[in-house]
Order: sequence, then structure tokens, then C-alpha cells
Amino acid sequence: MSATSSDPRADVVVIGLGVSGLSCAIEAAERGARVTVVEASTGPGGTAAGAGGGTCIPGSALQARLGIEDSVDLALEDWIAWGGGSVDVEWAERYLTASGGLIFDGLAARGVRWISVHPHEGNRVPRWHRPQGGGKRVMALLNEHARSLPGITWLYGWRARELVRVGGRVGGVLAARGDSTTEILAPAVVVATGGFNNSAALVTRHTPRARGAERVLLGGGTGATGDGVALLEAVGAQFTELDAVWMYPYGTPDHLQPDSGRGLAVRGVDGEIWVNDDGNRFHDESLRGGAAGTDALLAQPRGRAWSVFDAATAAHLVIADPRYLVGNETIRPRVQEFLRDSPHVRSASSLGELAAAMDVDRGNLASAVADMNRAIAAGLAEDPVFHKPLRGLPAILEPPFYAVRLHPLARKNLGGVRTDLDCRVLDEGDRPIDGLYASGEVAGMAGGRINGRAALEGTAFGPSLFSGVIAGRSALG
Ligand SMILES: Cc1cc2nc3c(=O)[nH]c(=O)nc-3n(C[C@H](O)[C@H](O)[C@H](O)COP(=O)(O)OP(=O)(O)OC[C@H]3O[C@@H](n4cnc5c(N)ncnc54)[C@H](O)[C@@H]3O)c2cc1C
Repeated sequence: MSATSSDPRADVVVIGLGVSGLSCAIEAAERGARVTVVEASTGPGGTAAGAGGGTCIPGSALQARLGIEDSVDLALEDWIAWGGGSVDVEWAERYLTASGGLIFDGLAARGVRWISVHPHEGNRVPRWHRPQGGGKRVMALLNEHARSLPGITWLYGWRARELVRVGGRVGGVLAARGDSTTEILAPAVVVATGGFNNSAALVTRHTPRARGAERVLLGGGTGATGDGVALLEAVGAQFTELDAVWMYPYGTPDHLQPDSGRGLAVRGVDGEIWVNDDGNRFHDESLRGGAAGTDALLAQPRGRAWSVFDAATAAHLVIADPRYLVGNETIRPRVQEFLRDSPHVRSASSLGELAAAMDVDRGNLASAVADMNRAIAAGLAEDPVFHKPLRGLPAILEPPFYAVRLHPLARKNLGGVRTDLDCRVLDEGDRPIDGLYASGEVAGMAGGRINGRAALEGTAFGPSLFSGVIAGRSALG
């Protein structure tokens, strides 16, 4: 193994170049600092480059244009009510207050177009803002800006292995690439390595609520390996709510990577019903977020279910994965291949045959579909059993019929390393560890647990960007 020592003139070293690390590097470089960034993969972007980039912003100009009345106070009330007692209220309020200027206007000034606003569970008004081109375009624009700044040294393909202690403080990082290692020293080190939802070991360890489930699929970004947890643990950092893993109930195994443990998010199937292994419905399928939807799924035998729909609904199926999308457009032939080839999908020309292929009770499945169809045909506003709103929903009528196997999909870490309001990492005694900062998902997006235990949605990308900016500022002292 060869060892090199680094440029000794860095003021800040940033580990990880997702939205948080990149924002941190930009902020520090704009303030004149010499920044070295260490990224394990071959390019910038991290999780956001494959994400929606949807962002919770209260009181934006776009909301106003659409006639949506919103405010920081209203959003903060929703945030606290939804996230429960462990919400970091100070961080949440700071984020919500800053989001209009820093994120809505700030990203617009870099070329981002905010194109629509959507509702999500827990929000009294729609406030999830969609950027055109998703997270990929936002990250490309941020990267373009970062590249124009002097003072940033880019180290791609280098994986941080250890935080280096210098005279009783953290003063650098040891990184490795293949057989080579390098030590990068700086008076401030920012850990922005993202979450751990691409680590089977960490997801298994930290999802006790899913113990009864057959499996939990990995759905974080591919760089979300959880390295930051080990780096920070080794220097005595304090963690909070690591078990607040935000899981969605609509994951299905990625059959093209059968040994990876990874899942695909199945969306767009409004005309579906969910049935458990007995063939019975168990939930209002419109409540498909990480709170009610996942609780309902985990309460079923083996914590799994089937999504059942017909050919008409299949035409709208979206698989939220880069292989199946160009921008926001679905690559239809690939979805057809998925429906045809995945061993986790069943299809049949009758419901009886489908029940046999799913190995569920034929009578139960037939009743579940018939009850739903009857309620829709009668023009009911909601289904009488689980109160799913029915307006505009299609009945399940047109063969072939499909069933897609659903498991919980671990997507985001709402908990992480604890920091103070300056992103300084705290030890077990609540004391800042000198020289050490953390931002983004490794810090539960900001501070350790800005969301508490449930997310309003759009509350990962924005807060990760925000805490990156704060870290970039604070790291300069
Ligand atoms: C499919 C998907 C869709 C999503 N959609 C949304 C959305 O619409 N809205 C929203 O708010 N949130 C969304 N999220 C969550 C959000 O994108 C992330 O929480 C956010 O991007 C995290 O940013 P980050 O910079 O903290 O971490 P990341 O973007 O994960 O970046 C961490 C970086 O650190 C690097 N790294 C890791 N370990 C090391 C190491 N040892 N050495 C060097 N580098 C290392 C990784 O390679 C990676 O590039 C989504 C997540 C997923 C998976």
C-alpha cells in the first residue's frame, strides 16, 4: 500500500459530495476558503442525482401563484405534529424560515425551474415543490457553479477510512483508493457522507420495527453505505434516532440485481388495491407514505403484501428508478419487461388464476376486487371499509390482471449524528468535538433529527442542502 500526504493548505476538508457536501464546499469556497473534497464515487451528485429533489418550502411565490396560502408558522406546526416529540424544533424552524430565500430563490438563480407543488400526508396544504429535471438537474447546476469557484480541490474515487486526530482535535482524514492511501489535513473536517440505506447490515440493525417482516429492501442512494456512522463512532460522536429509518410500503425487489438486496419503488398505480397473504385488503391505499402505509404493511403476516391492478392501470405504472425513467418520463417498454420478467410479479387473464399464482385465497381476492368495483360503480366518495377516496379511480376490470409483491423499502435516515446549530458534532456529553462538523443525511439531514420520526416529504433534500451551507460557514470559524 502506498501512502501520500495531501496538500497541507486546505482550510476545510469535506467528505462526500451529495447535495450537502457540495453546498458546504460552495459556501466555504465562496467565503475564500481552500477546500478539499473527498468523494468515494467517480462523480458528484450523491443520492440527490437519482432523486426527485422535491422540496418542502412554505410560502413560496409559486404557491402564491397557485392560490395556496402557506406560512412558516403553519408548516412548523405540521412538522412538529407529524414528526412527534423528537423533532428538533430549532433546526426545523431555521430551515423553514430560510427555505424560501436559500432554496426556492437561490436555486432559481442558478437556473432551477420550480414547476409544480404537490400535497403529501401530514401537510395541511401542498408544499412539496418539484424542480424540473429532478435532483439530477439541480445537482448538475450546483456542480457547474462549484466548478467555477477557485480554491476547491476535487478528490474523486477516494474513500474516507478514518478521521485523523491532531493534538486532541479532529484535524484531517485518511482516505484510500485501491492500494493507495492519503492523509488530508485541515483544521475543519465536515462529514457529509449521507445515510445508510444501502447497507444491509445497518438497515437490519436499525429497523427493529420491521423484525417480523420477511425482508426490508434497500432503497437509499448507492453511495448511502453508512461509512459516516463508523467514522464518527470511532471518535466518540453521539447518535440519535438511528432507528428512525423512513421506509415506504411500495418496494419490490429489483430482479435485475437479485443479490443486492435493493428494491424498486412502485408508483402511479392509483387503481390498485393491496391485499395480504390471505388475499384480504387491509388499508386505505391512498395513504401510502412512510407513516400510515408502512405501519399497515408491517402489521400484515410477514410484513408483506401484493399490489393488485388491471391492464388499464398497468399502463400508468411508474418505477421510480433511473433504469425506467428519462427525466420524469417513463420508459414504457422497460416497465413492460419488468411486468413480464420479474419473479416478484404475477399476471393472469382471470382473477381466479391470479389468486392461484399469488397463492392466496381465491374467494378473498375475488371479494376484495368485487367490493372495490361495486363501490366505484355506485359512485361512492370512499370505500366503506377503509375509507379510501374513490373519486376518479378506475375499477379493476380489464385483463390481464397483475399482482406485484410489496415489501418495505428503506429510503431515508431521519436520525443520525448529533450536532449543535453550527453543525459541530457533539460527543456523548453534548460537548462539541473540536474540528469536526457533520451535515446532511448522516446528521438526520440537520442536527441529528430535524424531522423527528416522520417526514412531511421534501424534508430531506432541502434540509441537507441547508445544513451543508451552515457547516460550510461554521467550519471557517
Ligand atoms: C430514490 C430517492 C428519491 C428521493 N427523493 C427525494 C425527494 O424528492 N425529496 C427529498 O427531500 N428527499 C429525497 N430523497 C432523499 C434525499 O435525496 C437525500 O436525503 C439527500 O440527497 C442526502 O444528501 P446528502 O448530501 O446528505 O447525502 P448523499 O447525497 O447520499 O451523499 C453522500 C455522498 O458521500 C459519499 N460517501 C459516502 N461514504 C463516503 C466515504 N467514506 N468517503 C467519501 N465519500 C463517501 C457518497 O458516495 C455520496 O456521494 C430521495 C432519496 C432517494 C434514494
